[in-house]
Amino acid sequence: MKKQKIGIVGAGIVGLAHAWSAAERGHAVTVFERTARASEASIRNFGMVWPIGQPEVSRPVAMVARERWLRLAERTDIWVDQVGSLHLAHHDDEWNVLREYFDFGKDGELGSHLKLLNPSQCHALSPAVQPNGFLGGLFSDMELCVNPTNAVRALPKFLNESFGVKFHFSTPVVEVGAGWIRTPGYQESQFDRIIVCSGHDFETLFPEVFRETPIRKCKLQMMRTVGQTGSWRLGPHLASGLTLRHYSSFRHCPTLKLLIERISTETPELDRFGIHVMASQDDAGRVVLGDSHEYDSDIEPFDSAEIDRLILRELTQIIQLPSWQIESRWNGTYSKYADGIVFESEPIPNVHIATGLGGSGMTLAFGVAERTWKRWSQES
Ligand SMILES: Cc1cc2nc3c(=O)[nH]c(=O)nc-3n(C[C@H](O)[C@H](O)[C@H](O)COP(=O)(O)OP(=O)(O)OC[C@H]3O[C@@H](n4cnc5c(N)ncnc54)[C@H](O)[C@@H]3O)c2cc1C
Repeated sequence: MKKQKIGIVGAGIVGLAHAWSAAERGHAVTVFERTARASEASIRNFGMVWPIGQPEVSRPVAMVARERWLRLAERTDIWVDQVGSLHLAHHDDEWNVLREYFDFGKDGELGSHLKLLNPSQCHALSPAVQPNGFLGGLFSDMELCVNPTNAVRALPKFLNESFGVKFHFSTPVVEVGAGWIRTPGYQESQFDRIIVCSGHDFETLFPEVFRETPIRKCKLQMMRTVGQTGSWRLGPHLASGLTLRHYSSFRHCPTLKLLIERISTETPELDRFGIHVMASQDDAGRVVLGDSHEYDSDIEPFDSAEIDRLILRELTQIIQLPSWQIESRWNGTYSKYADGIVFESEPIPNVHIATGLGGSGMTLAFGVAERTWKRWSQES
């Protein structure tokens, strides 16, 4: 493929992933980011690289991304921990779904990654598992943990030093056309190909495209504890039975509908705020806790104390921490494409939009970008 000049809008994980894949292929890449440093969804998440949440069709993309995260850890000081994940069952219906998922996967590609564990095996993996009423868990060795703020803010340095990728921070793109990007002061830069990775802010640059697209905005509330004392570690990422109704990878489990029905009958407030609970621990020992899901016109700019209370209520039923003292609370917003793992469109020749990865951008972005760049390299 002829070496090209590539312009990228957005230094979130999707923009950075495309920059990395393009630069590795020898293209000259320039990234424009409107803020002084990445500040949106890509730094506000759990830092879970989460192949287990992906259905069969997108799991290979997640596994490519996983390999790239590990490669990044080898080449930089970006922290990537191969923690795996543990789904916990504190109700019979949760245990049934986990067993069904395991039985379905055990003879296929997933088989070598999964283990169905009894309570004492789970306790050996994580001191945080709440023993009251605990029935067992599903361990997967595929999941990684990153510190999203540090990783996403360190990536530009790596891309610049290794491949000469240029970054223009504090530089909003105000218009994109065929082969050009316009920034304030009518500065115009020319490119062979432009990739727009502006996250959930899609209406600013291409309002007509997005009006026609089945894409939703989703706001999540999150919390983080203070650093846990001493060398205490959570172990794998932990997810509750509530999570089984959130990720589409569990949808084929025949008894999932019973679990969904129980939750909507017993605790409708969890459905109302889209609450399912998970925990991960960063390299500073802080435990990241979440989350809730509010969509589109239901999104309020104000964070709700009630949502935080419900998240903590559910978490304390499934995990125990040395300290529950909350250090930070925040929200994040992502865009989610309804008809696939990513929304890709070329509204103008050689202007490519890539967004809508929903709650899986950290899991998928490196794989999505590789897939796209492979396709473009073969086409030329
Ligand atoms: C609370 C929360 C928890 C999550 N947890 C996980 C998780 O554990 N695992 C996982 O896989 N995924 C998770 N996700 C999803 C993941 O964070 C997102 O899918 C991903 O970060 C989206 O990346 P992005 O690059 O598309 O968007 P963003 O991170 O929003 O980046 C877009 C960038 O474009 C810039 N931009 C926008 N418009 C312009 C413009 N006109 N000019 C210049 N720059 C512009 C913005 O400033 C921004 O920096 C979570 C998301 C949230 C909100």
